[in-house]
Amino acid sequence: MWISIDKNSDFSIYNLPFGIFSTSKSAKRVGVALGPWIIDMPKLADLGAFGGIDFDKSVFKQEFLNDFMATGKAVRVGVRQVLQQIFEDSCSPFKTYASDFLIPQKDAVLHLPVKVGDYTDFYSSEQHAFNVGAMFRDPQNALLPNWKHLPVAYHGRASSIYVSGTNFHRPKGQTCPDETQPPIFGPTKRLDIELEMATIIGTGNEIGDSISVDEAEDHVFGFVLFNDWSARDIQKWEYVPLGPFLAKNFFSSVSPWVVTPEALEPFRVPATEQAPEVLPYLNGQNRQNFDVTLEVYLLPKSENQNSEYLLCRSNFKNMYWTVAQQIAHHTVNGCNLNVGDMLASGTISGKDPDSFGSLLELTWGGKNPITFPDGSVRKFVEDYDTIIIRGFAQKGEIRVGFGEVKTTILPAK
Ligand code: MN
Repeated sequence: MWISIDKNSDFSIYNLPFGIFSTSKSAKRVGVALGPWIIDMPKLADLGAFGGIDFDKSVFKQEFLNDFMATGKAVRVGVRQVLQQIFEDSCSPFKTYASDFLIPQKDAVLHLPVKVGDYTDFYSSEQHAFNVGAMFRDPQNALLPNWKHLPVAYHGRASSIYVSGTNFHRPKGQTCPDETQPPIFGPTKRLDIELEMATIIGTGNEIGDSISVDEAEDHVFGFVLFNDWSARDIQKWEYVPLGPFLAKNFFSSVSPWVVTPEALEPFRVPATEQAPEVLPYLNGQNRQNFDVTLEVYLLPKSENQNSEYLLCRSNFKNMYWTVAQQIAHHTVNGCNLNVGDMLASGTISGKDPDSFGSLLELTWGGKNPITFPDGSVRKFVEDYDTIIIRGFAQKGEIRVGFGEVKTTILPAK
């Protein structure tokens, strides 16, 4: 390669995630992260780099990835191959123009990468469902009878999904801390994180049609880190009988770079066996998950950026229901998925207590507060706390990272 990239960079030549960026000189446009740079895709397209692939190059000049995503898998794979060839060929004719199309990331602002269509949140980690069921209902019957037969989910709100770096005010709402008394109103006292991944749909299905498990991954454009902010006290009072509403719809945070299925190809792992056996429409040829390490850090209000505390370390492979099964189930009734739809995984918790993906589980409903090395104690997220989720996959020298999603909580308005 004719540019050098640190071996610990999330954005190796094997990754090439897509995003939307702007600079002081250029409007929002499509970029690809590579080491400390962003490849300015409209510039590279104007130089003729993608002339061999049949698609409208103006998709790179849009404010969201949606038009590019809609071109489909073959175009995305082609674009990726061209980029790898350009940087791996020391005689590439494009090398001369590198300073035109390589933008330092530090000079750019990253934006929400997709115009989110509909947003669905699944509940696909068995350990998370077990923990929540054990805490709120019954440890002997933690999973409800449907849980191992279908990927449980609810429809969430797309308009309040924001990119990393956007902060929000602690939400207010109705809670009922003492069930013998009437409810009260005020800022949530139990603001929580949910460590999730989100699948972004590139090509959808017509209403009335379904996507099979084996076709499902062809409809995926890529994945981002997703923090499904949750107000546990509001949730507890409102969620029966129709599920989450104001406890969830106030804000969700996503990482700016969309990592493609091609980049995650080396990190496929067999998904754990499902028992009891699922219905045929959920049963595909090859049930696989992706081995992606996921970490959540808390940074208390501080000038010192080194005082990030690891809250948990989990893995995208800790999913009972695969992405393909989620898509097949979502469309089995003829529901139409569209370009830009976001399907979040649900909180991803592993077996070990230090891999639980929410403070609800890590502190077991606030019963076991966490004490950090500086003496500060947390049950839930406090004002001015910053939460950072990072994710990466690594196999030998191949590193594919997601960067981070970072959000600071401001006091209630
Ligand atoms: Mn969630």
